[in-house]
Amino acid sequence: MNRNRYVYVTTPIYYPNDKPHLGHAYTTILADIIARWFYLQGYNTFLLTGTDEHGLKLQREAEKRGKDPKTFVDEMSSIFRSYWDVLGIGYNRFIRTTDKDHEELVKYVLNKLLEKGYIYRGRYSGWYCSGCEKFYSEKEYIIENNTPICPIHKRPLEFIEEDTYFLRISEFRDYVLKILKEGDVVYPKQYAIEIASKIELEGLQDISIARPKSRVYWGIELPFDPNYTLYVWIDALLNYLTGIGYLKNIEEFTNYWSGAIQLIGKDILWFHTAIWFSILAMLGIPPPRKLLVHAYLTVKGHKMGKSLGNVISIEDTIKRYGNPEVVRFIIARIANYDKDTEVSWEIYDSIYNNDLLNNYGNLVRRVAVLAKRYINGNVERDLDEQFVRDIDELKNKAIENYNNLNISEAIKYTLDIAHNTNSYLNRREPWKEANPMKTIYTALEAIRITSLLLQPVMPNTIKTILNMLGVEIERNIKQFNFGYIEKYKVVEAPLPFRKIS
Ligand SMILES: [Zn+2]
Repeated sequence: MNRNRYVYVTTPIYYPNDKPHLGHAYTTILADIIARWFYLQGYNTFLLTGTDEHGLKLQREAEKRGKDPKTFVDEMSSIFRSYWDVLGIGYNRFIRTTDKDHEELVKYVLNKLLEKGYIYRGRYSGWYCSGCEKFYSEKEYIIENNTPICPIHKRPLEFIEEDTYFLRISEFRDYVLKILKEGDVVYPKQYAIEIASKIELEGLQDISIARPKSRVYWGIELPFDPNYTLYVWIDALLNYLTGIGYLKNIEEFTNYWSGAIQLIGKDILWFHTAIWFSILAMLGIPPPRKLLVHAYLTVKGHKMGKSLGNVISIEDTIKRYGNPEVVRFIIARIANYDKDTEVSWEIYDSIYNNDLLNNYGNLVRRVAVLAKRYINGNVERDLDEQFVRDIDELKNKAIENYNNLNISEAIKYTLDIAHNTNSYLNRREPWKEANPMKTIYTALEAIRITSLLLQPVMPNTIKTILNMLGVEIERNIKQFNFGYIEKYKVVEAPLPFRKIS
């Protein structure tokens, strides 16, 4: 998908006011899978995730616990890191908006935008949600008992009036509309259309980017006015530039940025299109290559979230399946960009049983046992071309979907390869064949390709499985060819997944 073999994958940086749940893991796991997929093909990849550590919400959360904000975010960001470590997120950098280089970048950018005339002083009033750190317009908030209510948090908004600084994004109305309507940056396209219609209907108004320090002291100070801190969203968006060294190495930045794939949930679409594309344009930076947007995970129809208390915890999911990579698999399998995905233990269990235990896991186990029992684990190249023709098409579809960032479709085609190979074994009955070499070699090749396609999703599990079959994972696309391996040495029959207790 990228001309110059660089891929830069970002997740939103998360608000560390509580430990992460599957909603956070959703985006992070998808981002990690995408980065690993391109890495497996030999791309230079860089995965950025982190925590968004400033703003009123964290200031209040820290105060509530009797801590100073920095101590609080130090603790919380390390909790986020520990979760990502357990889930095997191979980030190249975990950025914190309290990092020194980020603060420097923010101040550099603000000075630059002031110089260019994109920042000006003015007065602002409006209805504000401290939970969202966002002003809501009349069209956006809900009215209950004559009180404006936050549509996300379902609690009353505060009316705020103050002197502030504005960012002149109104100038970029046509530019942003052009990207949304004519470009292929936002994926799926429906989200681009949604924002384009909003801009056409309501216009693109300049946004207030400063908060008086008296109200929000926990933020980056404006370099040109110490009475103000920067609006947390601008601070947060700029992390994507800090993360890949915009101020440190412009050549490297340019390479990676040309292959930027930014993942977000649909709730932060406005910030990552209207505002982000405008800021980038002010700095002379093109929009990312892709903005990949996913819908929500829902439990009984409601978005999973702390405030609604319907969270399925990461711990419980890991405990149930005994392998953190199963969480990754489930997420990859259910990922849905355009529609919300309902989740429950029943759905998880059926994915686990059907796809991993009975399909892929069973295939790996039975072929390895056959190889050991009938040909002593020494399997030499003898490819059943006719069968391979059938599954080669599935493989190509899986690769194509991966390259187009359609993870769940890629996984679906991958599992079809395993399914077809199980049927192939049932038809061929290698345990009755005088010489089962061809059947077993062909099945091992199907397992190897299936495993490579699952490697970005379950890196450790797959590495263990392929090692037991005597295969090393490479970093190229050639290894996806059937018949690539000359000799297998099956040393053990893996039992990668156990029954749910
Ligand atoms: Zn809110």
